[in-house]
Parts: sequence; C-alpha cells; structure tokens
Amino acid sequence: MGLFDVFAKGLQRTRAVLERAFVAATGSGADPATLEALEASLLAADLGPDLAARLVDEMRRSAGGAGGARAAAKAFLLKSLAQPGPAPEEPAARPPLARPEVCLLLGVNGSGKTTTAGKLAARYRAAGQTVLLGAADTFRAAAADQLAEWARRSGAELLRQAEGADPAAVAFDAVGRGLAGGFDRVLIDTAGRLQTKVNLMEELKKVHRVCAKAMPGAPHRVLLVLDGTSGQNMLSQARLFKEAVPISGLVITKLDGSSKAGALISVARETGLRVELVGLGEGLDDLRAFDAAAYVDALLP
Ligand code: GDP
Repeated sequence: MGLFDVFAKGLQRTRAVLERAFVAATGSGADPATLEALEASLLAADLGPDLAARLVDEMRRSAGGAGGARAAAKAFLLKSLAQPGPAPEEPAARPPLARPEVCLLLGVNGSGKTTTAGKLAARYRAAGQTVLLGAADTFRAAAADQLAEWARRSGAELLRQAEGADPAAVAFDAVGRGLAGGFDRVLIDTAGRLQTKVNLMEELKKVHRVCAKAMPGAPHRVLLVLDGTSGQNMLSQARLFKEAVPISGLVITKLDGSSKAGALISVARETGLRVELVGLGEGLDDLRAFDAAAYVDALLP
C-alpha cells in the first residue's frame, strides 16, 4: 500500500468527522452558516480552537468558490505542518547518526513507547542492522517483559536489570554495551509514570545525562511518543517533556483508532516539534514516516 492509502485508511475516523461539514461548506461557496458548522467539526476533529478559527478565516477570505476554499484550507494546514529538515524517510533507510545511534523513547504510560521501540527494532533488523533494546522502565516488570517479547520477535538483543533497578544505570549499561558490541542502534524505552511528574522529569533528565557520560554526543535522538487518541492532551504532554529534555521529534500513535487526528497538526504547529513517525495500527508495517502532504490529503475529503 502506498503512503497516501495507508494514511487514508488509518485516518478514516477523523475524516468521517470532517467530511460532511467540509463538503457542505465548500459546496455552498463557503457561506457564513456552513463555515460555522465547519468550525464545529474542526473542533470535533480536535484541531484546537486557534487553528480551527484560523482555518475557517482562510477559507472565508479565499476567492474562487468551493475549489478555492478547499485549496486554501489544504494550503493552510500544510503550512502549519511545515517543518525544517530533511524529508521523512523509512526509519531503517536513514543511516545511524553514530555507531551506535542512541535513541531515547519518552512518553506517558500507554502512549505506545514500547510498541514503537519494538516496531523500530524490527524494521532495523529487517534491514540487516544490529539493535540493542534497553529496558529502562524498571518500575513495571511487565514493561521489560513486553520489550523482551519484541526483542525475541525481531532478533534484537535486550538489556534489562531487576525490577526497581536505577533506570539511569540501565541506560548507561545499554549505551556501554552498544559501544562495546558495535551495535548500529540502541533504543532505550523509559518509564512513563512515577510518583510525581517532578520525579519523572528529574529521572528523565538523569537518564539523558547518563547517556552522554557513557558516549559523548548520546542520545542522538529523543523521540516523544504521544497517543493520537488523546487529542489536545498531547499538547500539554509535549510542553512538559520538552521542558525536561531536548526532544528531537514526535511519534504520534494510534491514529487508526482516533477521531481526533487533527490534533497532530496543532501539536506540531504550537510546539515547533517535528512529527517523525506515525502509528496507524498494531502491525509491524503500521509505523510510518510522517509525510505532511499525504496526511493533509488523507484528512481532508
Ligand atoms: P507504553 O506504555 O507507552 O510503552 O505503551 P505500549 O507500547 O504498551 O502501548 C499501549 C497499547 O497501545 C498497546 O496495546 C499497543 O498495542 C497499542 N498501540 C501502540 N501503538 C499503536 C498504534 O499505532 N495503533 C493502535 N491501534 N494501537 C497501538
């Protein structure tokens, strides 16, 4: 399946929310009442009040009737997603930034960190690269077990310690083993919950620092994993994590089950963070490099 088809299939639920109102608004040449109805459905798709209002404004101002309004809407959304840097690539096609390339995965519990680490490991392995998975979520034995299962399935190596071990020690060992063993990639899965938010953020800072101690320049990538069904809540999470450690990119998961996929656009726009990968299902192939044009095409009927 091509990227557009994958997005189109995955974004069905959000598109259903937008479809009728959008067709009505553009079909009528964008009259005030239908534009108002459109704004309501943009809010339902969780574009956020600011982005929704500005999008409707763009459409109101656009000349050229229905076609013009639709084109204006698409152009505006694309502009909102404009992100500096190279075009998205299949994860394994991007050469490691160092050897090993150390990548930290952050995010609250249930956001899809472990699944994303597993999917990434499998993709790297399929491309012939060596992968070490570090289980730095030592608070839940189940998290390390889940990662162990991914390691087994993908042919990655796993580094774990006993439940309750210091997550920073796991990260330190993982980077050290990655270096000593000549691995291509080290993926470190972190905890998403602690007694308090402050503790969690302090913990993540420490894990981040310790990676650099084990290997100057590490971590080379820090991916924040956000649950796409949580809509605008993604925004407050992104702000919180961004304050603690430098984030290099976002992974937005579960877009296949979400009717709020519009929130991805406002999160990207308001945090300035680049969406690198999106999760569109539980299968291995359902983790995709993010492509803004295909996304907007699939979102807008
Ligand atoms: P973690 O606590 O952040 O490590 O989250 P997990 O990786 O354990 O994921 C939580 C749940 O979300 C699991 O049941 C995953 O199978 C599911 N999940 C993760 N990514 C996706 C996705 O892109 N689509 C769907 N439908 N489910 C996903």
